[in-house]
Amino acid sequence: GGQWNDYLEIKGLHVEFDGFVAVKNLDLTVEHGDLRFLIGPNGAGKTTIIDAITGLVPATGSATFRGEQLLGKKPNDIVKLGVGRTFQTASVVEELTVLENLQLAEGFRKKGRDLFRPMGGVTQNIEYMMDVCNLTEDAHKPAGILPHGKKQWLEIGMLLVQDAHLLLLDEPVAGMTPAERIATGELLKRCSKNRTVIIVEHDMEFMRQFADSVTVLNQGEILAQGSVEDIQNNDEVVRIYLGG
Ligand code: ADP
Repeated sequence: GGQWNDYLEIKGLHVEFDGFVAVKNLDLTVEHGDLRFLIGPNGAGKTTIIDAITGLVPATGSATFRGEQLLGKKPNDIVKLGVGRTFQTASVVEELTVLENLQLAEGFRKKGRDLFRPMGGVTQNIEYMMDVCNLTEDAHKPAGILPHGKKQWLEIGMLLVQDAHLLLLDEPVAGMTPAERIATGELLKRCSKNRTVIIVEHDMEFMRQFADSVTVLNQGEILAQGSVEDIQNNDEVVRIYLGG
C-alpha cells in the first residue's frame, strides 16, 4: 500500500570505474504508481544506475526506497527491502515448473538464499500472481519449455511473489513478438498501479505506448525528463538520438 515514503529517491549518485565517471552526481525521484522509462544512447549509464541501487557496483551519494538507504547494502538485503530486478536474459530455473519457480522465489524472500529447503505450498499470493502474469495455465510446465515472453513474465512473477515494490527491469520486451510486447506492457501497467516501476529500454515504440514518464540519460547525466510528449519535442533529445 502507498505509504507516504513509498518511492525511490536518488540524490548525488556517483559511480566511477577506474576514474571514468559512468554516473555523475545524479538526482532522480520516481514516485509510487509511476511507470518510468529510462532511455539514452549506449553507455549513457542506465544499467550502472540499476547496478548501483541493487548493490552490484559501489557508488557514493544516496538512494533510498521507502526511506531505507540502499547504497552500501548487500544485494540480498536490498531484495528484502522490496527491490526486485530482472536482467535481459530471464534467470528462471528451467528444470522446475512455473509453480516451483514461484515457490522458490517466495521462499527466498522468507528464508534467505537457501535453494535446498523444502518448498512451501501453493499460497494465495502465488495463485494471484500467476493469474496477474498470465501463467495459470502453465503452472505445471517446466519453465524451460515456455516461450521467451512467458519466461520473462515468470521472472516478473517471481519478483511479485517476493513482494517487490520497486521493479527494475532491463529491456523486458527484447526478443518478444508484437503480441507479447503488448501483453507485457499491460502487465507492467497493472504492476505499476501500486508499485514503482523503472524500465531500461531501447524500444521507442514500446516506450511511446506504455510510459507514464521518461528520463533521458546521456554520459551519466540526465538530459531531459517528462512525459513521452515532452521528450519527443525536446531538441536536445532529438539531436542525441539522430546524431545530428
Ligand atoms: P547503458 O546501460 O546506458 O548502455 P552502462 O551503464 O552499461 O550504459 O555503461 C556506462 C559506462 O560505464 C559505459 O561507458 C561502460 O563502458 C562503463 N562501464 C559499465 N560497467 C563497467 C565496469 N564494470 N567497468 C568499467 N566500465 C564500466
